Amino acid sequence: MPFIITDPCIDTKDTACVDVCPVDCIHPRKDEPEYQATSMMFIHPEECIDCGACVPACPVAAIYESVDAVPSHQRELVEANAAYRQGDADAFAKADGLVKAHIAAQPTLMAIPAAERQAAHATA
Ligand code: SF4
Ligand code: SF4
Repeated sequence: MPFIITDPCIDTKDTACVDVCPVDCIHPRKDEPEYQATSMMFIHPEECIDCGACVPACPVAAIYESVDAVPSHQRELVEANAAYRQGDADAFAKADGLVKAHIAAQPTLMAIPAAERQAAHATA
């Protein structure tokens, strides 16, 4: 069961998690072409080894430890993490489209500063 990045990462994308991941399964990295355009980072659902190293590294608590732990209003982002697994342009477009749909569907949540957004997940 992979770890999942959720919406506090949107526009934060500082890649602190990328730097600690032992299997390089979080993308796009800063040296990948999609990095500038991406709204957030994604975890490859099959390459993630569930080590948990990324969770304390994230300054905005964006990462959940399993799909089941992700609140229902973040489900588009579970799909987005999975969609980006191929890492090509089409996969990026699909994943980013799912993120944009989430932003449009959650205006109240997205109006909350990223650092406070995860705490708001419980009541959203
Ligand atoms: S849980 Fe471990 S393997 Fe999975 S994304 Fe986080 S750091 Fe990488
Ligand atoms: S550490 Fe958190 S905010 Fe930074 S890129 Fe990773 S998931 Fe996004």
